Amino acid sequence: MPTNQTTGRRPKVVIIGSGFGGLFAAQRLRKADVDVTLVAKTGHHLFQPLLYQVATGIISEGEIAPPTRDILKKQDNATVILGEVVDIDLAEKTVTSWLLGRETSHSYDHLIVAAGAGQSYFGNSQFSQYAPGMKSVDDALELRGRILGAFEMAEVATDPAEIDRLLTFVVVGAGPTGVEMAGQIAELARRTLKSNFRNIDPKTARVILMDAAPKVLPPFHEKLQRNAHRQLNQIGVEVQLGAMVTGLDANGLDVKDSDGTTRRVVAATKIWAAGVQASPLGALLAQQSDVTIDRAGRVEVQKDLTIPGHPEVFVVGDMASLDKLPGVAQVAIQGGRFAADQIAATVAGKAGKDAFTYHDKGSMATISRYHAVADLGKLKVTGFLAWMMWLLVHLVYIVGFKSRVVTTFSWIVSFLGKGRAQRVATQQQVYGRLALEKLGPDFEVSQTGGLEQADPDDVQGALDVADGAPVGSDRSIA
Ligand SMILES: Cc1cc2nc3c(=O)[nH]c(=O)nc-3n(C[C@H](O)[C@H](O)[C@H](O)COP(=O)(O)OP(=O)(O)OC[C@H]3O[C@@H](n4cnc5c(N)ncnc54)[C@H](O)[C@@H]3O)c2cc1C
Repeated sequence: MPTNQTTGRRPKVVIIGSGFGGLFAAQRLRKADVDVTLVAKTGHHLFQPLLYQVATGIISEGEIAPPTRDILKKQDNATVILGEVVDIDLAEKTVTSWLLGRETSHSYDHLIVAAGAGQSYFGNSQFSQYAPGMKSVDDALELRGRILGAFEMAEVATDPAEIDRLLTFVVVGAGPTGVEMAGQIAELARRTLKSNFRNIDPKTARVILMDAAPKVLPPFHEKLQRNAHRQLNQIGVEVQLGAMVTGLDANGLDVKDSDGTTRRVVAATKIWAAGVQASPLGALLAQQSDVTIDRAGRVEVQKDLTIPGHPEVFVVGDMASLDKLPGVAQVAIQGGRFAADQIAATVAGKAGKDAFTYHDKGSMATISRYHAVADLGKLKVTGFLAWMMWLLVHLVYIVGFKSRVVTTFSWIVSFLGKGRAQRVATQQQVYGRLALEKLGPDFEVSQTGGLEQADPDDVQGALDVADGAPVGSDRSIA
């Protein structure tokens, strides 16, 4: 069906988000007789599973964040729009995006919402300034600045207690992200930074992985959890389980252990890898339809990933809640492709499928150089073999041949050698977020995660202020 009989034009598909769900949906529609508009608040597709390697200097941000425009350049039916979606009108079938004060309206016949999830601090949003999460390139670069900065500050500190504070790193959340992050900070301290300093010994850095749960890697098989725990200990990560964070500030954390005792951990660098909160666009859909959202803000979609009363609206990936599917890349990829196939079938006048079926390809997590765990259904793999499998799988899913080649080279530098090619940390990386916070409510991170709507002149003025102001001066690098 080349054109809509009533309107005389091709059906319009709007996709929100250029992550795994959004991008793979757009690519799947390349042969469909539709016009695709992909609207996302970043100009890149982000390969989040390797963000911790950007934060710890193994790879550069460009390797895991290729431009969406470039990926889709040969797909004639796809247009990429940079902008934060600030409104969805289900009755009018429009999506409104915002880019530095300019609003753009996009009408649709079919909509795929794949705006992902942000960090959740479980009602303690004040923790965020002291313990950044790791969801974006900005987060990873800020963390890199904080981690490397802590070693630099320790080198010039004279008070032993202050040196201990600076050389203590706490990762909160012992899921795959937390485990990988803690492992890499330990290896950075013990291998890469060895012999780099004169006044401190980076090998003495304390890396603590903390979680309220009783096991590391909760979704994995028990055998793999034990293996991961042992390996973490071997590379010098202190694993503290049954430990709930009750307070967090610039100097450290308040912790309540499972036996009820409380204690204080003094640490300059804290990293939050516990909990996610789905995009607030889900709440926007719930306000206008009969769909509900769960406690994490995820949209409780129907079996075919649509919302009740709106067969033209799909929600996929981390934003969707269905059958307790995990928030992982494969769920988003398969969901995005499913939604695209349903739309292509409708446009072609064919019946779609009744329900989305997820094919679980297993889970993996790296612990350290040459050691990973892989949960592949009945097959449980650990050690070097799992690590090789992890490398290959990640190379396959990194988008773009160039990125794959460059990443392979970076891995050779870091894993065969001791170096890390990406140890640059600029002041802006560390202070940029704080600078924006200091500019006041007009420049706060908005509901959906971008800058609040503001006049472009104000934005420019504010950026000028940020440039000259001694931002961050009342806060240490922690
Ligand atoms: C640090 C980290 C490590 C991970 N490791 C793994 C792993 O090893 N294996 C695995 O399977 N999964 C892993 N995951 C989970 C996996 O990355 C997610 O499940 C997956 O990215 C979800 O895809 P998505 O498309 O739903 O959302 P995302 O990939 O998050 O994409 C969301 C998109 O929406 C855009 N967006 C958000 N809000 C708006 C808005 N208002 N307007 C416009 N655009 C918007 C964003 O810019 C982005 O392009 C990891 C996640 C993180 C954070």
